Amino acid sequence: MTPDSPCTVCARSGSLIAYDTYKHVWYECVACRNWSREKKARYPLEALAASGLRGLGLLAKPNKSDQELYSYYTGVLAEFEASGSRGKWAGELADLAKLLADNGHELAPGQRILDISGEPGFLAHDARQNGHEVAVTAFVPEVATAIARTLGFPAHAYDFAVGGLPAAVERNDFSWVLSRYGIGYCEDLGQFAREVHAVMASGGHVFVSYSPASHAVPLRWMFDDYAYLRQYTPDYVARTMQGAGLELARIIQMGSYAWDAGLGKPQRLFSAPYSWQRRFQGLPPYACQQHNVGLVFRKPAH
Ligand SMILES: [Zn+2]
Repeated sequence: MTPDSPCTVCARSGSLIAYDTYKHVWYECVACRNWSREKKARYPLEALAASGLRGLGLLAKPNKSDQELYSYYTGVLAEFEASGSRGKWAGELADLAKLLADNGHELAPGQRILDISGEPGFLAHDARQNGHEVAVTAFVPEVATAIARTLGFPAHAYDFAVGGLPAAVERNDFSWVLSRYGIGYCEDLGQFAREVHAVMASGGHVFVSYSPASHAVPLRWMFDDYAYLRQYTPDYVARTMQGAGLELARIIQMGSYAWDAGLGKPQRLFSAPYSWQRRFQGLPPYACQQHNVGLVFRKPAH
């Protein structure tokens, strides 16, 4: 990809601005304002970081393979099976239910909930205990199998990049579809919107949380291999979901973070050559922060 390549979202040519960061080059499209990411084949200081010098490990944090993701989540599920511990996933359902209730929506018992990329499955597990009928999707087939075996409800393999959500879940009557911080990994949001619409009951809702396009995201996550592939504007997400036949019901602001929140000292030091680039300077306050937003859409009843 180069600044002369067509935009991966709107397909226009000659509309891209390149932003160099430590491991990635991001391209912002001045026509549609969405962003695309390309990972560098090699990144600076790779050999130095791999040498194990104290504090530099985070600069070389290796990408997790599918197998490692599998081991990770199955380990989490094994721990839950042994001790009942939900680790950092404790309270997810209560937090979401409160957020929705504060915004005029209810997760009522008896509703059917699909949690897309709901690994490790604890939100769905808790929802089932509250009287919901639940299903989840997981990115890696082995993780889906482990969730179904450990937690005892349907779990389906589904990858944004491949699609096929309706065939995977084999239902079209979900009252709530949840997609929490997933669409940044989705390269074809139109296909995703159509597939979500297809699995929803008439009058059902979908909750999509994500971080809208901002200059802070490329800076904040420049040392991570497993970073978002796309940054979408709220307007683009809303229009795409509406294009699939869904009505925007609610926009929920869920907090913001400074671009350097959570970066350690070595990361701050090594991020400086990138964050000091002219293109990252003089930005409006909104662009200097990562924002979390929840969108609620409704499928009109016929
Ligand atoms: Zn574009």
